[in-house]
Amino acid sequence: MVTTEPVAVWIEKERFHGDVVDCLTVILRTRGCSWNRCLMCGYKRDTDPRVTTHDLISQIDRALKKGKAKILKIFTSGSFFELDKEFRDYVYGKVREFGFEKLIVESRPEFVYEVEKDLDKIDFEFEVGIGLETSNDFVREVCINKGFMFEDFKRSAKYLKSKGFRVKTYLLLKPPFLSEREAIEDALNSVRDVKDYADVVSLNPTNVPSNTCIEVLWRKGIYRPPWLWSVVEVLRNADIEIVSDPVGAGSLRGPHNCGKCDKDVVKAIREFSLTQEKSVFENLYCRCLKLWEKILELEDYSRIPLTR
Ligand SMILES: [Zn+2]
Repeated sequence: MVTTEPVAVWIEKERFHGDVVDCLTVILRTRGCSWNRCLMCGYKRDTDPRVTTHDLISQIDRALKKGKAKILKIFTSGSFFELDKEFRDYVYGKVREFGFEKLIVESRPEFVYEVEKDLDKIDFEFEVGIGLETSNDFVREVCINKGFMFEDFKRSAKYLKSKGFRVKTYLLLKPPFLSEREAIEDALNSVRDVKDYADVVSLNPTNVPSNTCIEVLWRKGIYRPPWLWSVVEVLRNADIEIVSDPVGAGSLRGPHNCGKCDKDVVKAIREFSLTQEKSVFENLYCRCLKLWEKILELEDYSRIPLTR
């Protein structure tokens, strides 16, 4: 693996003060997450223990050559605030130099307090994404093995907001061991619970990366990623700004429906994420909707997926 090149860099659309603008998005190859125990996490494949601060600087420099955008979004397969201060300062400097109006990073809740050392460098809109996954401590601990409590998230979010920063909350739709219906309920309960702490929710339907615990369950036929109808159900019923970029959508390892309607449903989900217009879901229909409704009912009893 080359440590001086980012894993990926692209320009995508992102909501910004009610508008849709360009966002330069980069996945950095880092040394990874110090926790690294979540059952569904496959980001380890994007990490390398040899990566130095100097490498990270080269990666950012390469990413910035991709083109102009209003927003810079950095994924780190771990916490941005676990990276060296020297590197963080370099990023803040580049945000100013390139005229980005907003920077988005991600972090586990226990590391966000590091930003205290960076406050004098941040004079742009700053958003920190936290992977809460669910507001239910039992589900987070037992089904995901996330290693922190809802209280920890609340404290971190309050702290970030007290500094004038935005909080994006990642919620996981369908952690392992939940039925399809329980997954929807868990996500909607979580949306309600994070309302006072999050500026925006990003709903991540589970996908099945290689070499993860969730892959073992999936191969044995005791886990199925959520239906795209379930994603729609959560988005439609959430009363908060909420976006979703379903990774691997339409494949067996990602959130999927029957195969025939997946494309149209994903298109509507992406459109909704940019516009927040619930009307985009109105004309979606497929024969598999009935099957999905039955599954919501029956999987509570079967406790295993009834379809692939
Ligand atoms: Zn269908």
